[in-house]
Amino acid sequence: MGLSLTFIAHDLAVVKHISDCVLVMYLGHTVELGTYDEMYHNQQYPYTRALMSVVLVPDPDKEQGKQIQLLEGELHSPINLPTGCVFRTRCPNAGTECTKTRPLLEGSFHHAVSCLKIDHL
Ligand code: SF4
Repeated sequence: MGLSLTFIAHDLAVVKHISDCVLVMYLGHTVELGTYDEMYHNQQYPYTRALMSVVLVPDPDKEQGKQIQLLEGELHSPINLPTGCVFRTRCPNAGTECTKTRPLLEGSFHHAVSCLKIDHL
């Protein structure tokens, strides 16, 4: 039909059922973008992984055994962003370069990530 819809939600279990392409934002910045398959089976950005880890699985055995990735650290205000990477105060992989350089979204429409420590796709 040549129709595009933008659907905004926090519940990725819902997004999964209606989206061909998924974009994840953190504090107003796009941190990962990709096709449905890439985002649900090959997510790279640590915030995306944490979000995906809490998606409910409609199988009680798998749901009980799944590993949830809890995020620690300071949640900044979107009007007072940290220097460098916007996720660095909560990222388990943050290093000194992450305090200095704000990463750009790199990759393709198939899969793109905004992280200094990920070899681009
Ligand atoms: S750039 Fe650094 S802080 Fe940001 S997501 Fe990548 S590793 Fe984490």
